Amino acid sequence: MNCQVKDELVSQLIALNNKLNLLSPDLVHGDEERAEVQIQRENLYAEIKHHRARGHEGKPCPAARPDYASHL
Ligand SMILES: [Zn+2]
Repeated sequence: MNCQVKDELVSQLIALNNKLNLLSPDLVHGDEERAEVQIQRENLYAEIKHHRARGHEGKPCPAARPDYASHL
């Protein structure tokens, strides 16, 4: 079963991961930006976790799999 909300959250997470990979250590403000992206990523993880557990009117997401977030 698919869930659009989950797909959206995951694509946001993937975009953040890509952004993190593209941030060069040579950039002047690279460390700051990376730290910021890390925080955004942690927030997204929490959001995905919450959505999986009770994102559908208090019920678990039908698209969630137990090992789902560990691949990301
Ligand atoms: Zn869902």
